[in-house]
Amino acid sequence: MQGVGFRPFVYSLAARLGLYGHVANDPAGVITEIEGEQEATERFLDALRSSPPPMARVASITFREIPPTGETGFSVRLSAQHGARTTLILPDMATCGDCLREMSAPDDRRYRYAFINCTNCGPRYTIIRDLPYDRSRTTMSPFEMCPDCRREYEDPANRRFHAEPTCCPACGPRLRLLSSDGTEIACDDPLEETIRRIRAGRIAAVKGLGGFHLACDAANQEAVALLRRRKHRDHKPFAIMVRDVRAAARICRIGPEEEALLSSPERPIVLIEKREGNGLAEGVAPRSASFGVMLPYTPLHHMLMAEDFTALIMTSGNFSDEPIAHSNEDARVRLSGLADCFLLHDRSIHIRTDDSVVQVIAQRSRFLRRSRGYAPAPVKLPCDISGGEILAVGPELNNTICVTRSGNAFLSHHVGDLQNVPAYESFIQAVRHMEDILAVKPSVVARDMHPGYLSTRYAMERGLPIEPVQHHHAHIASVMAEAGRTDRVIGVSFDGMGWGRDGGLWGGEFMLCDLADFERFGSLEAVPQPGGDVASKDTRRMAYAFLRAAFGRDADALACEMLPGFAGEELRIISRMIEKRVNCPLTSSMGRLFDAVAALLGICGFNSFHAQAPMELEAKAREAKGEDGFYEAGRARLLDGMIEVRTSDIVRGLVSDARGGAGVAVCAARFHNSIARLALDMCLEARKNTCVETVALSGGVMANACLLERLLAMLEKDGFEVLLNADVPPGDGGVSFGQAAVAAWRRRCALQCRLE
Ligand SMILES: [Zn+2]
Ligand SMILES: [Zn+2]
Ligand SMILES: [Zn+2]
Repeated sequence: MQGVGFRPFVYSLAARLGLYGHVANDPAGVITEIEGEQEATERFLDALRSSPPPMARVASITFREIPPTGETGFSVRLSAQHGARTTLILPDMATCGDCLREMSAPDDRRYRYAFINCTNCGPRYTIIRDLPYDRSRTTMSPFEMCPDCRREYEDPANRRFHAEPTCCPACGPRLRLLSSDGTEIACDDPLEETIRRIRAGRIAAVKGLGGFHLACDAANQEAVALLRRRKHRDHKPFAIMVRDVRAAARICRIGPEEEALLSSPERPIVLIEKREGNGLAEGVAPRSASFGVMLPYTPLHHMLMAEDFTALIMTSGNFSDEPIAHSNEDARVRLSGLADCFLLHDRSIHIRTDDSVVQVIAQRSRFLRRSRGYAPAPVKLPCDISGGEILAVGPELNNTICVTRSGNAFLSHHVGDLQNVPAYESFIQAVRHMEDILAVKPSVVARDMHPGYLSTRYAMERGLPIEPVQHHHAHIASVMAEAGRTDRVIGVSFDGMGWGRDGGLWGGEFMLCDLADFERFGSLEAVPQPGGDVASKDTRRMAYAFLRAAFGRDADALACEMLPGFAGEELRIISRMIEKRVNCPLTSSMGRLFDAVAALLGICGFNSFHAQAPMELEAKAREAKGEDGFYEAGRARLLDGMIEVRTSDIVRGLVSDARGGAGVAVCAARFHNSIARLALDMCLEARKNTCVETVALSGGVMANACLLERLLAMLEKDGFEVLLNADVPPGDGGVSFGQAAVAAWRRRCALQCRLE
């Protein structure tokens, strides 16, 4: 990778061992020529392998002997412009300990400087325009280095040797504070003034590493309520930033895994269980059992948090479903109704990158969103397909894209939902950027089977061979590829919706998969989804559809009783839609079943954001600790041999429990138990028939900790080997990676066939 201080490392190593020669960065990696005693050259090679600089990952070392040239010094050469671009680009990294020490030392020339960085930390992916990695190809190019910075930059023994974004107060970016109407606020210290305003209950738009945050005091009820009103967000939890791990431990229950994630250089948002009496406003994360917490990751954040705020809300600067704002102009236009002031700087963000979100489930970290700090670090594919690179465009919601280069897959930052124009434009930019910086010319485009997705349309317009990959197969393939598996596994794929091979809306699927193909052996009972997409928001519609499947004629009376506000005209219309099969596609979605149950238990009647109802249902289930009851789901064999799991049986059991006075939390817990149990039963059935012992779990519903913990324990107890996603999200953000893996493997198999 470039920008990790590899050349200074080689330089000092050679000096220590008394070797002569030179070292250079080249788009293909680092090239060094050394000359000296046999023993010293051997120790040099050993050290390259065993002790590279902290941020470096050495993929491979190749060497050959050449005749000595009689050099008598060691030099560092400038970047070569030509050659294959096979180096890797680093993600952005949190401010390192050395830089933190310097910025808090009053006699340092970068004392309290908001843009301090070095080869071990700072911006990378978000500022790089092109390769090779050089200041002139980053958004730091307008800032000419002052003599002091230049001296450090050119000194091979310095920590800032060729630190491309290096700068100081004399030559680097500066902060400015603007009011909401765009006029400059005169003040000595824009940061101090921002802190003063936040303390007074104002909302500030703060330009960060990958985009803007909206910041306000998380302990201030009125400020939080104001932010909710302005952002049109009723319930979706806001992310918060706290000063350090100790501050985080005061507001939530941190385990060792969470602590490690919080303080890692990637600095993701970590979902952690709240503590009672945490002192934050109820409106920070209402109806949620956890907070999304992160630690400061830029020098600016560190200075913001040095004030004694319990926590700051740091939510992405956007209206609900739009991409995060990232340019100063864009922010001023789009956020003017949201923020009272703007803390800006003049270093541009080339690629907008949201904060990553992770959660620890059963001692393992899982991605809910993989973006800043991780993108575009590669994930290994199980096969090397040099010469036939692939672009995978993902599905539609929570999208990422993925390109492959030899044996690696490069997952982009989080692009978001492709249902609005700004996100689609951002998607096209992401594709271009990834192809550019990785120098990949794809020969195949992998896409979802859904004919209506914008990503599908884009794939068709590329004019390249197309590889359609079924949505749930891609989910399972993402797990398999991460684990390096290509042989048959039992795949359990639960999510909101994916286009089925038969054109149906799938989402609760049991399949036998290898990496190239799959066979579906079971599915949840298909029920009508009244109004199509509308029903994925209005959870009462799904609740009613399940009531009809479970109770037939009695459904209307039960709906009146259990679904407040759903009686009367609305109910009659939906009922007629179902009877006449008007705009009522059938769905086997697990996500919709969770929606329905949340509505039936009176927890959530409307998804105002993605997966709200399932998340609130899960939070309720957690309240019934130790509950082990469940509802049995029957099974039926369909004509084509597929097994249908009778989820209406579960609904029948749940309704009778709820009406019989079992508490909401108990019903929610029993429902989670039931889903884990039906999944286990299907895996046992598959093992009996096929002797396959490995289960891969994926899909957005597998982000449900309550379900996953139960299911994992049951499967392992029964002797299954269970594969889970680790480096890519189980939700739709991991689909592009799965598509790429399937396309790669199919190509390899086709090639092999031809050779045989
Ligand atoms: Zn540093
Ligand atoms: Zn300077
Ligand atoms: Zn999905």
